[in-house]
Formats: sequence, C-alpha cells, structure tokens
Amino acid sequence: TILVTGATGALGHLVIDALLARGIAPAQIVAGARTPAKAADLAERGVTVVPLDYDDASSVEGAFAGVDRVLLISGSEVGKRTAQHLAVIEAAARAGVKHLVYTSLANVERSSLALAPEHLATERAIAESGLPATILRNDWYAENYVANLDQAEATGVLLSATHGGRVSAAARADYAAAAAVVLADDAHVGKVYELAGEPVTYDEIAAAIGEAVGREVVHHDVSAAEFRAALERAGLDAGTIGFLEGLDAGIAAGDLDVEDPTLTELIGRPTTSLVEVLRAARVANA
Ligand code: NDP
Repeated sequence: TILVTGATGALGHLVIDALLARGIAPAQIVAGARTPAKAADLAERGVTVVPLDYDDASSVEGAFAGVDRVLLISGSEVGKRTAQHLAVIEAAARAGVKHLVYTSLANVERSSLALAPEHLATERAIAESGLPATILRNDWYAENYVANLDQAEATGVLLSATHGGRVSAAARADYAAAAAVVLADDAHVGKVYELAGEPVTYDEIAAAIGEAVGREVVHHDVSAAEFRAALERAGLDAGTIGFLEGLDAGIAAGDLDVEDPTLTELIGRPTTSLVEVLRAARVANA
C-alpha cells in the first residue's frame, strides 16, 4: 500500500492519477490529506483518504497503518517544513516502510534559493533515518509561468534579472509520472535523481509565452536593482519581492539549470514543452 502525502495538492492529485494509470488498484493507494474535504474526488475513485496534517503527530502516525511505501510531497509552509517532514520520516521509520520517496529541489546541495535549506535538511534526515529511500530533486514547475501570462499579454514584456540563466522546467504531470514509476519499483532505492525538463533561458520563456498568448512577448533583462524597483512599483509585498529577487538571482547563478535525461527516461517520453503547458493553462482558464 502506497501513502501519498499532500494528496489534496496539485502534484498529489497528479501522482494519484499516474499511479491509477499504471494499474495500481485504488485500494492500494492511501491519500494523506490535511483537508480531507479536498479529497472527496479521490475517495469517489476508491482511494482511501486518511487525515494527515504534518503538524498533528497522531494523524501522521495513524496515516501509516498498513502502509509499506510512501511519497512525502514537500509541504507548502516554507519555514515550517523541516520539522513537518521530520515528523513524517520518523513515523515512516517506526512503521518500517520499505521505500520512502521525497520530492526535493534541483541542485539542492549548491542551490542559493531560499527554498533549498529545508529540502537539504530533509534529505539529510532521510539519510540519517536509514530508511530505503529515493530522492526526486524536482526542478521548477512549468506551470509557475502561468502567472506571467496576463501581464505579458498586456505589455508584451517579460521582465527578469536572470541574465541568461536557464531553468529546466517541466510540467507537474511529468514529475508526477516519474514519482509513480519510482513508487512502483523498489529498484530505485538509494538513488538521487535530478528531474528536469529542457533548460530554457528567459528569452525562450518569453517566446513560449508569446506563442501561448498569441502576441510577441520579449524578455527585458534588467539589473537586480531595476527588477526590485519594478516589483515595488507593481505594489507587491516585501516578502514576495524578496522571494522573486532571490529566485532570479538563483536562476542567474544556475540553480535551476539541470541537463539530465533522467525524467524523460523514467517517464518513457519527452517532457512536456513549456508552450504546451501554457497553452493548456490558457484553455483551462478561458
Ligand atoms: P499545492 O500547494 O497544490 O499542494 C501542497 C500540498 O501540501 C497540499 O495538499 C497541502 O494540503 C499540503 N500541505 C501543506 N501543509 C501541510 C501540512 N501542514 N500537513 C499536511 N499537508 C500539508 O502544491 P503542489 O502540489 O503544486 O506542489 C507540491 C509541493 O512542491 C509544494 O508543497 C512545494 O513543496 C513544492 N513546490 C515546488 C515548486 C516547483 O516549482 N518545483 C513550486 C511550488 C511548490 P492542503 O490541501 O490542506 O492545503
């Protein structure tokens, strides 16, 4: 039986879709949900839904009943995640699971991104636990660029301070398919995979956005100070500005630049192109 944490999230749903598509019986899948009401669709498909809040030790413990494999999907509460993930790792160890799979971050050992330290601490805790494990260092989600569509359409400009840095973005569904492959085969135990799509520069991302919105979009590469000033003019809060500044600095430093065929090999097909992801989002949001 496979437990998927964060099952109510976008990635969690896609992982469960991918497990079912691989022929895993719904009765063999346990969806760990902080908000079980958001898992009604999963229950309808025969998946067992259990409460699982990383901050609630008894729910974490209880979710492992009868479970022998687990996908720990990293949480979304930045700053709280190391302790939250540790709670899951410890419960997995007590339950004696045969395979723990964790969604980490690209280049995590050398990444300057603010997201990296919690992922690295989690990877280390997994190693220290001695559990049979596979680490999936997921690169950026191509879907993250959906947020740029409206502004790019209105202005014809994609602004960044990435200075030619590349992002090896892939679709969530690609990462989900890979997670399902790994969960279904313990031969992956002990592996650390950098999972990535085709590396693209922001010039190429602007072109892809342009194709998706049907107008020319050009990338304006600006200094970090100019980028910050533009974000301030746009009225973003300080936390978001800090995150976006750090993100572009990290991209400029190559933090999300990964050239690695593993994702394609695991899923047995090319990764989804950025244009495809953006077009699909456009249709879905129309
Ligand atoms: P979502 O925000 O859609 O889903 C996050 C999931 O984590 C939800 O199921 C949420 O539950 C669950 N969760 C959050 N906090 C807790 C908690 N305390 N206890 C139990 N569950 C919790 O994110 P995605 O599915 O898109 O992405 C999955 C993860 O990937 C993110 O959480 C983040 O770590 C990482 N990520 C990676 C990105 C990338 O580009 N590589 C971009 C964005 C995120 P609930 O439904 O109750 O909120």
